Amino acid sequence: MTINVLFAAREGSWPNYEAPLNAAFEDLGLKVDLARTHAPKDVDYIVYAPNAPLQDFTPFHRAKAVLNLWAGVDAIVRNPTLNLPLARMVDPGMTTSMTEWVAGHVMRYHLGIDRYVVNPNQNWAPHVPPLASERQIAILGMGALGSAVAEMLMRLGFHVTGWSRRPKDSSIPMHHGADGLRAALSCADMVVLLLPDTPATANTLNPETLAWLPKGAFVINPGRGPLIDDQALIAALDDGHIAGATLDVFRTEPLPQEHPFWAHPKVTVTPHVAAETRPITAARVIAENVRRGEAGEPFLHLVDRDSGY
Ligand code: NDP
Repeated sequence: MTINVLFAAREGSWPNYEAPLNAAFEDLGLKVDLARTHAPKDVDYIVYAPNAPLQDFTPFHRAKAVLNLWAGVDAIVRNPTLNLPLARMVDPGMTTSMTEWVAGHVMRYHLGIDRYVVNPNQNWAPHVPPLASERQIAILGMGALGSAVAEMLMRLGFHVTGWSRRPKDSSIPMHHGADGLRAALSCADMVVLLLPDTPATANTLNPETLAWLPKGAFVINPGRGPLIDDQALIAALDDGHIAGATLDVFRTEPLPQEHPFWAHPKVTVTPHVAAETRPITAARVIAENVRRGEAGEPFLHLVDRDSGY
């Protein structure tokens, strides 16, 4: 029997996903009719990006799951019309992209690259940075992305500590809970935020927790905008407690022109580019979840609607 899969994502992403998804379904021997429109009553699975026009899931009586194309589910997890299992995206291509993006921004701060990139007075002023093994980096959020980032930074020689909601067995020194946050931040030269946006993670970096960081620390946020209290970060940058911040995600995107982050000399704004979903690798994850759904096996990467991620 043919499985009807609705592709509900922004119009422009269809050309990138159509062929990889069809190839991945075929590889698993699944007979799928993948389309941008299906009668809701006939749909078996919804491949979904939260920026799609589809917001009302009530007509999809037969559907077995919503398969999110994004890692973050903050824009769908509280949708009251959604009563289907929701799987998020854990994509090896996206994970690699995130590790590369974080590595680049960490190395920029670690090596002090800016002093040579912008040097209008042609100042010959050698600066010897410490070795990576003399730096401590805290990763807030040790899930699919945070763990991969932590391992990569350790391979580069950095000392890494992680922070998660629950205790975790890991080769990386871990902290959890409110007390653990203070322990993770208090010795960090840099902090990388890879938490989901949930009610519990809002303003994780605020006036109090920013003050726990040592003076001169750097903040790198590819997680979600609400993880940081914007005004508190600007105050900490202005008084010199925080040396710089690289921000990929914001409370409002695109970041409004009048937002002080744009003009702040210690802030680098990147336009939510840290880790795009990569169609070829992501299509295999989607196809595997359709296969599981058809076989009555548990879906991969199911979202816990109560905790919001
Ligand atoms: P995961 O769900 O795999 O990991 C989330 C981590 O955050 C887990 O370690 C979890 O702890 C921890 N966490 C959640 N709530 C809390 C809390 N209240 N206190 C402490 N720790 C908490 O997510 P991913 O690693 O796949 O993705 C992380 C986020 O990265 C996404 O939600 C998304 O917002 C962002 N992202 C950004 C992209 C970009 O381009 N900028 C691209 C992709 C993702 P525990 O292990 O105990 O559950």
